[in-house]
Amino acid sequence: MLGWIVGALGVGALAFFLARSLVPKVQVPASSVAIHATAPSEIPFTVPPDKPTLLLQAPESEHPKPPEGPRLAIVMDDMGLKSTALTRALPLPITLSFLTYAPHVGTQAAQARAAGHEVLAHVPMEPFGTMDPGPGALRVTQPSAEVTRRLAEALAPFGPQLAGFNNHMGSRFTADSDSVHRLALAVRARGVFFLDSRTSRASQAAEAVRAFGGRAATNDFFLDGGSEVTVQSVLHNLDRAARLAQMRGSAIVIGHPFPATLTALESWCPDAKAHRGLRFVPVEELAIGDSEGQKQVLSP
Ligand SMILES: [Zn+2]
Repeated sequence: MLGWIVGALGVGALAFFLARSLVPKVQVPASSVAIHATAPSEIPFTVPPDKPTLLLQAPESEHPKPPEGPRLAIVMDDMGLKSTALTRALPLPITLSFLTYAPHVGTQAAQARAAGHEVLAHVPMEPFGTMDPGPGALRVTQPSAEVTRRLAEALAPFGPQLAGFNNHMGSRFTADSDSVHRLALAVRARGVFFLDSRTSRASQAAEAVRAFGGRAATNDFFLDGGSEVTVQSVLHNLDRAARLAQMRGSAIVIGHPFPATLTALESWCPDAKAHRGLRFVPVEELAIGDSEGQKQVLSP
């Protein structure tokens, strides 16, 4: 068993580095993808000035250009504690990620699914520092059986509405190699995909999930990070997301149900669809496994 795990990890790591080395690097104007990499409710992380900003983004192999035009997945995290976001008329089938400890989360998820949204579970995971990620959090000190048990308990209320899950906070958990291996085993056992919220640039979660045979996707950046969130700042980030999707084929961004974010989405999305040719897609369409990723990289 141990040998198999090590073997799987080796293959995953090899595929990842192969992908990085075989895919031509796209020259990106720094201004178009500069990352304001502060995850709300999480320890801020910044891009070192000597590191290229693309380090924070998913490998290019995750973003093959489809003939139908650029695809953009927009996720709203931290859903479930306030009802206001669900009652807003969100203009497209964006992905709603519900905190697993929110009351009545099963009912809310069913309503969201019935309205045409993709539903994710927003699973609390341990951050660096002293912030409390919330009840039922996955922590680096938990053995594999406990991670699997907590994840099963967290996902159970969602029932068949669930497409996948992503991490709430989790900068410490997702950067810990033993922890992400435990997570990867649980993801594969559940048969759902994992979206790495990328609250740490050291996160290894998506790579580990794929190495163990699961499907994963990666957040490119947060729409409403930083200390001051305004409609203008969110609109600016939505434009960045559109440029990234147009340049690379697809992009995934995460926002939160702040009034400014909701207002910006309501005004920006219909125009982007009509005039920029963007297709808004569920995250699941962009979540890939290792074999798919390798096929996309190696095919001519
Ligand atoms: Zn969150």
